[in-house]
Amino acid sequence: MANQDDTFKKVIAHAKEYGYIFQSSEIYDGLSAVYDYGQNGAELKKNIRDYWWKSMVQMHQNIVGIDAAIFMHPTTWKASGHVDAFNDPLIDNKDSKKRYRADVLIEDYAEKLLQKAQKEITKAAKRFGDSFDEEQYKTTNPRVLGYLQKREDILARMGKSLGNEDLVDVKALIEELEIADPETGSKNWTDVRQFNLMFGTKLGASAETAMDLYLRPETAQGIFVNFLNVQKTGRMKIPFGIAQTGKAFRNEIVARQFIFRMREFEQMEMQFFVQPGEELKWYEYWKETRLKWHLSLGLGEENYRFHDHDKLAHYANAAADIEFNFPFGFKELEGIHSRTDFDLKAHEEHSGKKLKFFDPQRNESYVPYVVETSIGLDRMFLAVFSKALQEETLEDGSSRTVLKLPNILAPTKVAVFPLVKKDGLPEIAQQIVDDIKWDYTVLYDEKDAVGKRYRRQDAAGTPFCITVDHETLENQTVTLRERDTMKQKRIKISDLQSILSEELSIKKWLN
Ligand code: ATP
Repeated sequence: MANQDDTFKKVIAHAKEYGYIFQSSEIYDGLSAVYDYGQNGAELKKNIRDYWWKSMVQMHQNIVGIDAAIFMHPTTWKASGHVDAFNDPLIDNKDSKKRYRADVLIEDYAEKLLQKAQKEITKAAKRFGDSFDEEQYKTTNPRVLGYLQKREDILARMGKSLGNEDLVDVKALIEELEIADPETGSKNWTDVRQFNLMFGTKLGASAETAMDLYLRPETAQGIFVNFLNVQKTGRMKIPFGIAQTGKAFRNEIVARQFIFRMREFEQMEMQFFVQPGEELKWYEYWKETRLKWHLSLGLGEENYRFHDHDKLAHYANAAADIEFNFPFGFKELEGIHSRTDFDLKAHEEHSGKKLKFFDPQRNESYVPYVVETSIGLDRMFLAVFSKALQEETLEDGSSRTVLKLPNILAPTKVAVFPLVKKDGLPEIAQQIVDDIKWDYTVLYDEKDAVGKRYRRQDAAGTPFCITVDHETLENQTVTLRERDTMKQKRIKISDLQSILSEELSIKKWLN
């Protein structure tokens, strides 16, 4: 645990030191769970957003993107169920005065059981060597079976109690499992209560006429209320999708995990409208397609896993998370939800407008079913950034800090250095910058020894460095150095563009 904490602390410190993430209004001591993206962070965030948009919108002829407002008519949130049911179960520790999400405490307990089972399996694998059959061991070893069964029982009971609004049983479960405050070890808990996560605000100049509004807690509803506008003006035929990225706001109860859980964050969501009865087929399709998108970034297949929900939201008939191995363990990164016709039907009821699709082949109108993919942009940022940050020991025994961001997402793609600040080398380097900047983010640096400049770019995540030296004057070649391998090769300046476009082709990454 101490190890995980250290890794996470390093991630946070590095993000600040290299201009990725700052605490919001830091000069006033910050604002809890609100963060600003610095010069490199803004680029990385934009690149992740573009990578998503490209694959979801541009690569699908039947998906279009919109940009709906953050403010929406307040009835939207009545219809969506957020006014009545967008709650988290909270529990306070009476001794430490710390507040927790009751469901998260229980889920963390269940995760520990899984880890215990995993440990037994790893131990047995070592003992049995090549003849080890993991599947057989998992299904026959009593200790492993015990852990897994207990985990399943706990999650099922929690799902049932939360579904029935039985908060007394949620508390009973915490007590039965003897779950303690993770920070102090105290088991002196209050009752579990529901807490609505929406931020309220007011629209209008005078107090009497002002209208109560909410800051949107998800971007999805902006898509649902525009379903007909987009379907008609875009002449969309089912199945089709509407995507959008944008800010969402939640008054999170516990927000102590950097940009993993923020009060103001950004979502990238896509609602896919399908014929009723076909939703589970599309649900499987989107689970697979979204996982493929994640794997395309090369952060390691072992860092992802699916988690099927036991506790379904009020609108869903199937739901799964793609979980990622964050510095603090596997946690939700993206949700794929089969939302049925819940949202469109609810908006029909509350608005009195028909939100149906006329299917010319079947010659009938129906309210489409919806499969949603929903990912937090900031959470994706944390996934990429934390996996990319590595300490390496080099052959000569020295060490380097390197941010191995997927090249396609790196804020600065190329850094150009003159070996020395004289003999016409800076001018050539500047000329290279001017040529490349049309296509890639590029940085010029002439300060310090070139080795130090390489290290600076390694830590900032820049995949390629180009050095102009005296040989350049003779034969128009430069050194191209790669961040990950630290390999250097001599190339012609005239070949630079084609080499970079090969390395940084989005087609290659997404394919
Ligand atoms: P959690 O269980 O972690 O609270 P959730 O199930 O409420 O998340 P969804 O409502 O499904 O989350 O939101 C979709 C995605 O939005 C999540 O997978 C996550 O990536 C992101 N997200 C949700 N809440 C936050 C937050 N407070 N800060 C950052 N990202 C968030």
